[in-house]
Amino acid sequence: MILILKNGVTDDQIDHVIQKVESMGFQTHLSRGTFRTIIGMIGDESLTTEQQLQSIPGVQQVVPVLPPYKLASREAHPESSVIDVSGVKIGGGNLAMIAGPCSVEDRDRMMRIGESVVKSGANLFRGGAYKPRTSPYAFQGLGEAGLKILREVGDTFGVPVVTEITDPRNVELVAEYSDMLQVGARNMQNFVLLTEVGKTDRPVLLKRGMAATIQDLLMSAEYVLSQGNPNVVLCERGIKSFDPSTRNLYDVAAVPAVQGLTHLPIIVDPSHATGRPDLIPPCALAGLAAGADGVHIEVHDCPEEAKSDGAQALLPEQYNEIVQKMAAMAELLGKTISPLPNSTTKNTPPTEALA
Ligand code: PEP
Ligand code: MN
Repeated sequence: MILILKNGVTDDQIDHVIQKVESMGFQTHLSRGTFRTIIGMIGDESLTTEQQLQSIPGVQQVVPVLPPYKLASREAHPESSVIDVSGVKIGGGNLAMIAGPCSVEDRDRMMRIGESVVKSGANLFRGGAYKPRTSPYAFQGLGEAGLKILREVGDTFGVPVVTEITDPRNVELVAEYSDMLQVGARNMQNFVLLTEVGKTDRPVLLKRGMAATIQDLLMSAEYVLSQGNPNVVLCERGIKSFDPSTRNLYDVAAVPAVQGLTHLPIIVDPSHATGRPDLIPPCALAGLAAGADGVHIEVHDCPEEAKSDGAQALLPEQYNEIVQKMAAMAELLGKTISPLPNSTTKNTPPTEALA
């Protein structure tokens, strides 16, 4: 860390700052300029905090040299991480294609949707069994019954499944049925939940909170990593804005910005980012063009009957069409849509139209 001292700081104050910082266990390096005096601190940053340093008389500003998300940072791990979700790789040129309805619904419907998205090229099936709803009167999800359905779809079509975890008390239960735990936007800063999923070995899909900065997102990832679980995939899903034209504001620039700061993969979710089926396909392509490590899209075979987020669902045939375009873009970018765990073909664009 670097301490910038106040204009007109006295020699006594400088001596005091040096003595204080050295007593904490740091080495110091004093540099006196014509207008400013700065002190470089060398040592283990966990021995103090910015707030503590800021309160030493004579200190104007504390400038951290390393990011506070040490494990998530690129400095700590220059190579891009590749996260393995039960055989499906995400990151380092491997693309996740996550698709499925917002909520897990009845078994037959889930089977139909699962079959069609897998046929189209999805490599992870999604659906929420526990839904974090704004209204306590809205559909809250099928709970464990929904987890069982999700697992059955995954096992039937040989596709790993991802589902949302909303409550730290359910971590073991949800981990038992799913291949990846989704921490949703509303829970991105639920630190108890992050700590609990960090104690598991399940890959975590961590969605950006709707009012979270990129640094907030990376600090939340750090919670999971710091518990020993290195398998975190980030997700840009739109942030709040003043404009009601779209459900959220799709921050596509966050993708390369995040990749510059962390080795963790980041995917995009144009469904929640835009809330509009007409905007999802172009925004999915924009996400890939910006370097995203995958795309998360909600698909429903009868949106008017969907228990949640029907208005933003793509129909299976629309999903099929966009996957073909995404496969073409993947090829252009020299990336691979990760094959399903037992499949031997790579980057296979779906060729058949859906029945
Ligand atoms: C979801 O994936 O259905 C969901 C609730 O997403 P988010 O947390 O991004 O709103
Ligand atoms: Mn949803």
